[in-house]
Amino acid sequence: MTKRIAVIGAGPSGLAQLRAFQSAAQMGAEIPEIVCFEKQDNWGGLWNYTWRTGLDEFGEPVHGSMYRYLWSNGPKEALEFADYSFEEHFGKQIASYPPRAVLFDYIQGRVQKADVRDWIRFRTPVRDVSYDAVTGLFTVTAHDLVGDHAYEEVFDHVIVASGHFSTPNVPEFNGFDRFNGRVLHAHDFRDAREFAGKDILLVGTSYSAEDIGSQCWKYGCRSVTVSHRTAPMGYDWPDNWQEVPLLQKIEGNTATFKDGTTKDVDAVILCTGYRHHFAFLPDDLRLQTANRLATADLYKGVVLTHNPAMFYLGMQDQWFTFNMFDAQAWYVRDVILGRIALPNDPAAMQADVTERVAREDAGQSDHDAICYQGDYIKELISETDYPSFDVDGASDAFFQWKKHKKADIMGFRDNSYRSVITGSMAPAHHTPWKDALDDSLESYLQN
Ligand SMILES: Cc1cc2nc3c(=O)[nH]c(=O)nc-3n(C[C@H](O)[C@H](O)[C@H](O)COP(=O)(O)OP(=O)(O)OC[C@H]3O[C@@H](n4cnc5c(N)ncnc54)[C@H](O)[C@@H]3O)c2cc1C
Repeated sequence: MTKRIAVIGAGPSGLAQLRAFQSAAQMGAEIPEIVCFEKQDNWGGLWNYTWRTGLDEFGEPVHGSMYRYLWSNGPKEALEFADYSFEEHFGKQIASYPPRAVLFDYIQGRVQKADVRDWIRFRTPVRDVSYDAVTGLFTVTAHDLVGDHAYEEVFDHVIVASGHFSTPNVPEFNGFDRFNGRVLHAHDFRDAREFAGKDILLVGTSYSAEDIGSQCWKYGCRSVTVSHRTAPMGYDWPDNWQEVPLLQKIEGNTATFKDGTTKDVDAVILCTGYRHHFAFLPDDLRLQTANRLATADLYKGVVLTHNPAMFYLGMQDQWFTFNMFDAQAWYVRDVILGRIALPNDPAAMQADVTERVAREDAGQSDHDAICYQGDYIKELISETDYPSFDVDGASDAFFQWKKHKKADIMGFRDNSYRSVITGSMAPAHHTPWKDALDDSLESYLQN
């Protein structure tokens, strides 16, 4: 009987999985039946933008954490699909830091070409997964939101691709309950124009703090103050931007920091990270890991060590994104197709995890972390037929990117890099990032 595979989530990771199976079918392989459950009404995951926050129209937690004027925070040359270049999609080479709508279009182009949309059940969140050790099968409970009924189906394998940047980590600070302005988490930030003319306080030093602050600066906020727990980000910020030690309390509108300095602010945006959160999974199947490059309990970063019929995609902290998800998806596909044999012994799988954790811990710098994740991609793609590409060249785009940020944090997106897939150089964008207020696809693709 044909195997049945459940894929949970149709973001970049889940879509990579669909494309991986479709590419095997295209080469003549017999593939299992694939059912992809997606709670939103479209594919693309975080790249499927929504203005909504909180709960959606069905009362489901909103998945989206992206905002209106988001542009790629790293060079596109470091994430390009090896089997579908930007040039193939757009019919020409494009500049290196595309806005969200442009990247969404690119992600969508590959799966439209692969014709896998029918494999996806939209508006269908998975509510529960259970495993029967006697039959070796999984029962997935899903909820058809439009028809408003829940149902169960049985699968041989479950692949979790539900992302991990949607459930916010929200700390409390003294005085928030009496603050006269707005407190929000980055997950609920949507439109920088809301903060035009305002003094904003960001808590945290993640990409979110850096980028939301930059958005608000670009769209005319009065000042940006960033509070850090351990160390400042240390870029050469614009004049109306300061970095301060950790927030201690807020009284009225006045924030006080650990060094005793104060600042009056209109809004506080918590850029305090996200939690790996799987409300639909029982303890025995639920990944419990910190946000790091070597996740806990995943052999080769994808196979659940204590139940190797279950897989996770994209659960690592991310330097590389789309091409890493591809490497993982092709690997998982080949395990399921029986082309790759897993160790019989769970201890051997756990030893693989331990070794990865130790190797990550031995790294000292961002440079080491990028190399570590690049090596991981190389390792996985060497075991499948995913098109080989110059991973070191992609890492090099990251190294250049870091230098460009150091040199000019508000201008780094004006740089160009060479594609490691087609070899061509990206053109400069027609307008510097700081002046490009219209970031629609049409505007971006104009020559
Ligand atoms: C603010 C922000 C900015 C970012 N910027 C960049 C960037 O510039 N460049 C970059 O490469 N990466 C960026 N990322 C990283 C991002 O994580 C990846 O690009 C990518 O979206 C991860 O893909 P994913 O499929 O693993 O997860 P997601 O994109 O999160 O997709 C997961 C999917 O699973 C679905 N889902 C969740 N739970 C269920 C359920 N129970 N049942 C059914 N479906 C479910 C969701 O609806 C969603 O469609 C950014 C992330 C954030 C938060």
